[in-house]
Amino acid sequence: MPDSRHNLEVPAAAVGQQAAHRPEPSAQAGSPVTTRPHGYARYRLDGCRCYTCGYACSRYDENRTKAITAGTWQPWTDAEPVRTHLRTLQSCGMGLRTIATTAGVERKRLQAILNGRTERGTKPQEIIRPALAAAILAVEPTLENLAGATLISPLGTRRRAHALVAAGWPQQHLAAHLGMTPSNYGAMLERPNVLARRALDVRAMYDALWNAYPAEHGATPAGITRARRHAAAHGWAPVGAWDDDTIDDPEAFPDWTGQCGTHRGDKAHRRIGLLPVCEPCREARIAYRRELKQARQAVAV
Ligand SMILES: [Zn+2]
Ligand SMILES: [Zn+2]
Repeated sequence: MPDSRHNLEVPAAAVGQQAAHRPEPSAQAGSPVTTRPHGYARYRLDGCRCYTCGYACSRYDENRTKAITAGTWQPWTDAEPVRTHLRTLQSCGMGLRTIATTAGVERKRLQAILNGRTERGTKPQEIIRPALAAAILAVEPTLENLAGATLISPLGTRRRAHALVAAGWPQQHLAAHLGMTPSNYGAMLERPNVLARRALDVRAMYDALWNAYPAEHGATPAGITRARRHAAAHGWAPVGAWDDDTIDDPEAFPDWTGQCGTHRGDKAHRRIGLLPVCEPCREARIAYRRELKQARQAVAV
């Protein structure tokens, strides 16, 4: 992905529009509506950042990293961490068939690790070859791996869809691009979850359109202006405020000014007339002032 999208047009697009950027609705970090229990799947798919989910995620990372390292020097390796990894993938809605295909191994090898070979009356494997372990441990639940009908957090989907509107794409064009009716498209963005396959579609659309000109794709000047105003009025962050690597991360926030989240952000907002100052900038400023005060007190003592 080209880097140029970053900070491409934030100030330019925002100046003079008096964008009232409020935080995003319900999609912000927190506990989204879902039936998944708190744990790794919920961390990964629903973007839950509660303590339980965060702990499960660090356990997952630890288990996987340790197992990968262990497999690099022994002729046989412990099957238990691989079993744990398989169960975690299953908890994310990945079937054994998908895991086997992604890992490039036979499904019965996975069954032997999980349940043993019932037809031979063997128990789940205790040790496995490192190459097999490595192939399985390499599989992670990504948008491409998940079953299309898996429900996931709509956060990244909304951010992308909204950023395109901020770039002047009328929503009916985006709906048509996805082969959806405007009302279905609108409903998709309102729901507390989105289908993994829709999230993939929207991601592909974003990658195709972020740098294209709506006018060259049939949008009228009035339609483009309306789209931009709509985005500004709703506080939707433009493409340049997002990073490809973090746009799906619940903890990421849009960088409106190029300095958001730092103590300089507050001034940057005022300089380009992008008010009100965003939450991360406000917090950074308060923290910075507190530090200054403490430093001064420390000197005075
Ligand atoms: Zn949680
Ligand atoms: Zn800011």
